[in-house]
Amino acid sequence: MPHVILRHRDIQDIHKLDVYTANGGYDALKKVLREMTPEQVIDEVKKASIRGRGGAGFPAGLKWSFIPKGAGDKYIVINADESETGTFKDREILEFNPHQVIEGALIAAYAVGATAVYCYWRGEFLDAGYAAEQAIKDAYAANLLGKNILGSGFSCDYHNHFGAGAYICGEETALLSSLQGDLGQPWSKPPFPAQAGLYGKPTVVNNVETLANVPPVIAKGADWYTAMGTDQSKGVKVVCMSGHVKRPGNYEVEMGKVTYRELIYGENYCQGMLNDKGFKAFLPSGGSGPVVGPEALDAPVSFEGLNPYGSMMGSASIIVMDETTDMVWAAEKMTHFFKHESCGKCTPCREGTFWLEKLLVKINSGRGTADDVEKLGSVATQIQGKCLCALGEFAVSPALSTLKHFKQEYTAKVR
Ligand code: SF4
Repeated sequence: MPHVILRHRDIQDIHKLDVYTANGGYDALKKVLREMTPEQVIDEVKKASIRGRGGAGFPAGLKWSFIPKGAGDKYIVINADESETGTFKDREILEFNPHQVIEGALIAAYAVGATAVYCYWRGEFLDAGYAAEQAIKDAYAANLLGKNILGSGFSCDYHNHFGAGAYICGEETALLSSLQGDLGQPWSKPPFPAQAGLYGKPTVVNNVETLANVPPVIAKGADWYTAMGTDQSKGVKVVCMSGHVKRPGNYEVEMGKVTYRELIYGENYCQGMLNDKGFKAFLPSGGSGPVVGPEALDAPVSFEGLNPYGSMMGSASIIVMDETTDMVWAAEKMTHFFKHESCGKCTPCREGTFWLEKLLVKINSGRGTADDVEKLGSVATQIQGKCLCALGEFAVSPALSTLKHFKQEYTAKVR
């Protein structure tokens, strides 16, 4: 099946505007500008059940429908602050197929009546950023961006903004704070961005991959899209494979039709464990999703596939670990990441991640006691449900999930 999102794998130089348009690019934008009302566009995206690909899985059409109707400034913000451990799909999409994201964002802007699109980039993504800058220049030159786009009366500008590499700026309100020049920290909702987002105006924040799904849905119709996937997970998903596998990288899969085992061992995917070592565990969503063991290998890749195993697909950044992986060491490294990235705004996360890491270092270095292992679980559960944003919830996942599945590795290390 040809790729829906990673189309550059099938079509050489699709990052160039002439190649993109020669292969149906911007036809979806032309269709909405000439034939569809904004309401019809939102209805089609709702019908396609495109769920957010950044991790949360919130329905994109529903999110767009929250934007108030009528005059006034409104914004589309592309969340390209791809910072989850093991996630590198948005960078590839933006670097090699940027027009599909720009087109998706323009369709979203038309649907909600936005006058500008802002793309908030992870600061380290310079190569992808330069490639996208060229795509934006070309789109402006072809009147696909700017005033009176293709003579339709619809106008929309596009701005790139590079962040400074803070994980927390992937959280939508922290991203908006950073974008408008404030400290990159989340705010307490309400107000939701749809009511008062960037510069206090109604704003939609969508992930890169989410928006890349929009042009094919408009061009081919929601029925074509919903024929792929499962009841709760429609369409395709780009998964990022890393860790102890032979062929790490991004792979596009139909939702619900491929298992984690196939991704790791399948001929079309990673072709097995690195150095043919035994499998031990995988993180399905970088450090944020609870680690799972061999029991979850036959779960399908979909939003609901890992529910029975107490984990989640998230952004599908799959980190595979072989039989030699020390799970206490792995939990320590992941917890260090969250402690480092905690923005410090709320006490349970700021102080709790500090104590989680301190306990893990002590246990991992062989200086811990059985009491420290109990304390680790206790500290983690005191963070859970008491934080302002999801980072606090994610931060306890390495400790709690490794304790659940690999407690014997903890007890083997303590005095
Ligand atoms: Fe900041 Fe952590 Fe609180 Fe989120 S949970 S606002 S990252 S301190």
